Amino acid sequence: MLTMTDEQIKKAADFFTQEIARLAGQRSIRLMEVCGTHTVAIFKAGIRQLLPENVELVSGPGCPVCVTPNEYLDTAIAYSKDPQVIITTFGDMLKVPGSSSTLAQQKAAGADIRILYSPLESLEIAKENPDKNVIFLAVGFETTAPLAAATILMAEKAGITNFYVLSAHKLVPPALRVLLMSENSRVDGLLLPGHVSSMIGVKPYEFLIDEFSTPAVVAGFDPLDILQSIYMLVKQIHEGTPQLENQYRRIAPPRGNEVACRTLYKVYQAVDTVWRGIGNLEGSGLGIREEYRSFDAKTNIPVTVEVMKEHAGCQCGQVLCGTLLPTACPLFGKTCLPEHPVGSCMVSVEGTCAAWYKYGAGRWQG
Ligand code: SF4
Repeated sequence: MLTMTDEQIKKAADFFTQEIARLAGQRSIRLMEVCGTHTVAIFKAGIRQLLPENVELVSGPGCPVCVTPNEYLDTAIAYSKDPQVIITTFGDMLKVPGSSSTLAQQKAAGADIRILYSPLESLEIAKENPDKNVIFLAVGFETTAPLAAATILMAEKAGITNFYVLSAHKLVPPALRVLLMSENSRVDGLLLPGHVSSMIGVKPYEFLIDEFSTPAVVAGFDPLDILQSIYMLVKQIHEGTPQLENQYRRIAPPRGNEVACRTLYKVYQAVDTVWRGIGNLEGSGLGIREEYRSFDAKTNIPVTVEVMKEHAGCQCGQVLCGTLLPTACPLFGKTCLPEHPVGSCMVSVEGTCAAWYKYGAGRWQG
């Protein structure tokens, strides 16, 4: 891999910054970074401050914790109250508010909830606790879903019968379609998620050009990657030639990771699913196929879920669609804080509101 000296990086950054300003001219341009990792990287590198006032970056629905609806949290919380159940999950799900509680509160009250670094750890827990049902909270996009699928295949191979998955996996392209169809959302170009694209490649995004003529660039996560991707988008807009480009070829090959995708679709199939604040989107989630339904928590372990409701005043839906800046939510930084999140966007480090709260500065601080 080519490495650049600090001087070369600065020169390249200066070039992209100047070209973005020149090509944008007086035109007002609104770009969306779809992925939460981009949101944080953009803040950390101070990229907004390098852009002219008329080139705006808004965040999209690319933080998996943020888009997981109350219904899912309430179901997980209901399962955690069952003394026969051990919940396994990544740590950032603990603080996400359900209708009336969080998994962290249930854990403090004695529920057996274990934090994992990999879903595979669930299988060891299941083997060590044969009299309990182990339920893995499978939340995430195409990046993490293949590993959840592989875990199910390994459980089958090992003959483990007390391991289950509560799936809330989501697919990025169908959400982008709905976003671009929405009358309220104005997006002139998309910075597409590098990690998701490393799995699915670029083909699933072709509709962005074919149906919407929306410029799109698969972007890496280094500051220079992001600046270059913004430059590529602004250049397309300036020239009036919308294209699907891949700035992150070194990690995201055009065809993605075909082995991982085969594993994923061996176990899962596309299903309709609810996105927090956005609603039920056709074919935007992953449900376990009939052949592996014995690993589906909802099918096999009955549970009564409390009545669900969204949190009054929370504007996560609009924030996730890029139609409202987090700072415009009346609860931002007041009753909604990372220590006491009201909505899911304030929970994960990659949550849009959490990132704006932690890194927002100057003209971006509301
Ligand atoms: S600041 Fe809090 S309440 Fe407002 S949209 Fe963000 S997460 Fe929801």
